[in-house]
Amino acid sequence: MRSFSILVLAFLTTFFSAPNQAAEPSVSILMYHHVSDSTPRVTSVTAEELREHLQYLKDNDFTVIDIRDAIAGVRGEKELPEKAVVLTFDDAYQNIFTNGRPVLQEFDVPWTLFVATDPVGNTPGRYMSWDQIRQLHEEGVVIANHSTDHAHMPRRAQGESDEDWRQRMAENILKAEQRILDEVGVSYRLFAFPYGEYDNQLANLVEELDFIGFGQHSGGFGATSDFRAIPRFAAAGIYANLNTLGTKMGALAFRLKDVTYRDTLLRHDETKPALEIELDTSDFHNNQLNCFIRGQAHTPEWIADNRFRIQAESPVSIGRSRYNCTAPSIAKRGRFYWYSIQWIRPDAQGSWPD
Ligand SMILES: [Zn+2]
Repeated sequence: MRSFSILVLAFLTTFFSAPNQAAEPSVSILMYHHVSDSTPRVTSVTAEELREHLQYLKDNDFTVIDIRDAIAGVRGEKELPEKAVVLTFDDAYQNIFTNGRPVLQEFDVPWTLFVATDPVGNTPGRYMSWDQIRQLHEEGVVIANHSTDHAHMPRRAQGESDEDWRQRMAENILKAEQRILDEVGVSYRLFAFPYGEYDNQLANLVEELDFIGFGQHSGGFGATSDFRAIPRFAAAGIYANLNTLGTKMGALAFRLKDVTYRDTLLRHDETKPALEIELDTSDFHNNQLNCFIRGQAHTPEWIADNRFRIQAESPVSIGRSRYNCTAPSIAKRGRFYWYSIQWIRPDAQGSWPD
């Protein structure tokens, strides 16, 4: 009986498909750092901009949900609102507490603070104290892990073996988690990579340590996302603009079947990384899939009905860069599927800029 129903469903899906095909439950996770008008613009919103974002979410029927509910929701363990957004703040800057917290309280929304533990309490005026972080926890904020020292984690030390590096990284992540447990009394095993930087080995390590990882690349978060590096949309600086941020808030997660690339950490001379993606294409038109490399439109090469390939035509720059791909949903008018991957290309010495 069960397999019969599945057959009937498969038949319906195949022949009456696209326009009625519901998209997979998706969440957009927004990433903030400073809430201030006197910090570097690229990682800052003003309190007024944050208020505008929250007002926009409210006016446009978005529901701001707890990061743990988002994870349970995309896993199918919990009902997700139709338009769900998660708010995250990185680095425990004092201005998040002073300027951001009152606005977040005004709108009564849940949020997450990713804490790099070493500077907390050591740099008064710049970073929060543990007392303040405990207070946030008591107010319902999810206190999560952003390493001890905010290092460029995929970067190996001079002469360091992969095994030694791996050990050092595991210690870093577990030490930060322990510090949060000691100071705040919680351990959610949610880890945001400093600078959103990870490579295959680090992503695997996060999974082996039983953490969920968060990056700094764009994209809808859904059941087929990489839980070792969940996407988050930057919402600061030029990205604070609601004309573009509004679309990102409603982003959908592609139903991915296979994502193939060598490694997100490139070799210095590996200048044009190739990416192949196999995915469910029933809710968008293949010719409406657009990719962007360094902000330039890039036509993907369809190598099968449901598999495409993209590769930069000119060398990607030293440091972090991203491939982004989007496609408008057929079923959910005005909403876009969005996938992104972040590459790190080292210079000849194996380093790269902040
Ligand atoms: Zn950070």
